[in-house]
Amino acid sequence: MTADPDCIFCKIVARQIPADIVLESDTVIGFRDLTPQAPTHVLVIPRSHYPNAAALAEGEPATAAHLFDAAREIAASEGLENGYRLVFNTGADAHQTVFHVHMHLLGGRAMGWPPG
Ligand code: 5GP
Ligand code: ZN
Repeated sequence: MTADPDCIFCKIVARQIPADIVLESDTVIGFRDLTPQAPTHVLVIPRSHYPNAAALAEGEPATAAHLFDAAREIAASEGLENGYRLVFNTGADAHQTVFHVHMHLLGGRAMGWPPG
């Protein structure tokens, strides 16, 4: 398990700062986004620190799969049978702002296709 002492999401994993956690396993956690962009907006992250999806896929591919398992469970528990969106912002053009890989799970409203 790797951690970055300056990373805000590592601090959430370590319970050093609070978060509204909706799912936990040995390898991943899911918690509600601080600034939700949809009625359901959950971030699903590995406990280990990787800066982006590519680094996770290379370093811990089994955990990458666990993110998708967690998303399926959260979508079911949130009642998102009408659909939902899974997003990994990766790098500057995608407006990634937190460099601990996170899957956005967005649902509960109809989505536009890329707004900008
Ligand atoms: P990104 O733009 O990097 O894909 O998304 C980062 C997300 O993390 C944003 O949606 C932002 O609202 C969320 N976020 C940033 N800091 C915190 C925090 O301390 N707690 C929670 N729950 N969400 C955060
Ligand atoms: Zn981290």
